[in-house]
Amino acid sequence: MSELVEERTQGGGWEDLASYGRVLAPGEVDVSHGAILYLEDITVSFDGFKALNRLSLDISAGELRCIIGPNGAGKTTMMDVITGKTRPDSGSAFFGQSLDLTRMTEAEIAHAGIGRKFQKPTVFENHTVFENLELALKCDKRVRPTLLARLNAAQREAIAEVLETIQLTDQAGRPAGLLSHGQKQWLEIGMLLIQEPKLLLLDEPVAGMTDAETDHTAELLLQLAGRHSVIVVEHDMDFVARIARKVTVLHEGSVLAEGDMAAIQNNERVIEVYLGR
Ligand code: ADP
Ligand code: MG
Repeated sequence: MSELVEERTQGGGWEDLASYGRVLAPGEVDVSHGAILYLEDITVSFDGFKALNRLSLDISAGELRCIIGPNGAGKTTMMDVITGKTRPDSGSAFFGQSLDLTRMTEAEIAHAGIGRKFQKPTVFENHTVFENLELALKCDKRVRPTLLARLNAAQREAIAEVLETIQLTDQAGRPAGLLSHGQKQWLEIGMLLIQEPKLLLLDEPVAGMTDAETDHTAELLLQLAGRHSVIVVEHDMDFVARIARKVTVLHEGSVLAEGDMAAIQNNERVIEVYLGR
């Protein structure tokens, strides 16, 4: 146990990064080889059952990647590995060139710039939209705890910008509890964005949304691509078709197919195990 703790505190911190060719600023992730995430041969077993089975996957910096696949394919487990919630039995997981995710705690991983949105929105219902973003900003571990401090001009500007991105500027003064389901989801995405994540993980972001809300979410994610790297797990194939660049199909814990939407939709194996005929 103490050995484990020891190991984790030694590896993965940005303090180590100065030794890698170029000196990185605190919080910077080394994407000099083009990729922001590397998963290689990741296996996760639960009582002998392999939820992930030698899964390998690379995500480029600025990429918007869709991950699809039948229930039980291992999509959520993959996100659990990336965020440090689940430790793989074997395989490697790197954030940029040098941050070994398998040696970092969940807090360290969040701090390094990986933000995750779960399915159920968890906004503070009694606080206004603006206050929710303010709280998210002040809970950012990279800045000193300043919950009681007044916002400075740069912070106000950052909140205004996120409100524009999530199109909730006109709702800023409303209690979050009064928002629609879709608006709450966007607010929660905004609460991640305000912490400027480098990689954003979204698990089924349009579940339960109306068609109009789903359209709006597609626009939002397309806007984020390039500025952030985004991994979206989603079942709604119309939605995936709207935002897809590269799509990865997971099946039984490993990659079944990868390619653009047309290639995926015409892939015999994918049709067989997921899309149906
Ligand atoms: P998906 O998100 O693609 O539907 P999951 O990653 O949630 O798939 O699950 C993959 C498989 O691993 C499923 O068969 C699931 O029952 C199993 N599984 C996931 N988490 C656990 C756990 N904590 N304990 C036991 N089995 C689990
Ligand atoms: Mg899942």
